[in-house]
Amino acid sequence: MPRILTIIVAGLLSAVPFTAMAQVNVFACEPEWAALAEEIGGAKIKTFSATHARQDPHYIRARPSLIAKVRRADLIICSGAELEVGWLPILLQKARPQVQPNGIGHLMASQYVPLLGAGANVDRSMGHVHAAGNPHIHLNPHHMVSIAAQVSDRLAKIDRANAAHYQSRLQDFTQRWQQALAQWETRATNLKGAQVVVHHSSLSYLIDWLQMRTVASLEPKPGIPPTTSHLESLLQQLNAAPANLMLRTPYEPDTASLWLSSKTNIPAVVLPYTIDGAANTGDLFALYEATLAVLLDKCRC
Ligand SMILES: [Zn+2]
Repeated sequence: MPRILTIIVAGLLSAVPFTAMAQVNVFACEPEWAALAEEIGGAKIKTFSATHARQDPHYIRARPSLIAKVRRADLIICSGAELEVGWLPILLQKARPQVQPNGIGHLMASQYVPLLGAGANVDRSMGHVHAAGNPHIHLNPHHMVSIAAQVSDRLAKIDRANAAHYQSRLQDFTQRWQQALAQWETRATNLKGAQVVVHHSSLSYLIDWLQMRTVASLEPKPGIPPTTSHLESLLQQLNAAPANLMLRTPYEPDTASLWLSSKTNIPAVVLPYTIDGAANTGDLFALYEATLAVLLDKCRC
């Protein structure tokens, strides 16, 4: 066979499996969105999460390895509502047109759910990080239903050949999720009315869903680290009116929480917050299971 023909044949052969195995590249800003995309996309997609459970998603560096990942993305899924405002715009400078704002591959989950704290009159100059409303939306499981539908819709438009696959996985996920959700709500009845102290408003949607009540926050304002005077006033408040639990995420510092817990005897508890934030939280179902198990175990309520 002439050399040039050999090269052409070899090229064609290598192109065939590549085309057949092409997957949609999904770039998630946080692990919960990578997990949701996997529920809907299955083997037809490849996911990457820019952050992990022990990283504060408000503040990461737009490092070259992330830029390399976002360049190849067909779909990006982020919380939005300014959670990633410090780093996502930098990454997007190097990304394809379809994942830019208003593109079919640009999905900001917070646009599809009601936001807590939206419209509140806040002063950005004070360092408040939730001026657009609270972006930590994923711990209200009801939100996952509408966001999953968006994920399926975007995947079907980006990868039309597999639209039926995404639609049927969405139906399957939604059915299993609704069943699990009903069971979680039955099990969580005892948590209703529990009074909790939080570090930041990372857990507000979980607290809202379970009808618990936030009585204090270690941060004087979202994004402002605890000060000595603020903690002293919380100590007085909690001595007068004790709370059931002190909650934080794996990425929030423990110093203030442990100090206040030692003074008040309120249990300081770390919740998984997102995928792999604790043992056995490898998917969204397991994340909620583990979160409820910890709350029910630790709450004196
Ligand atoms: Zn926040």
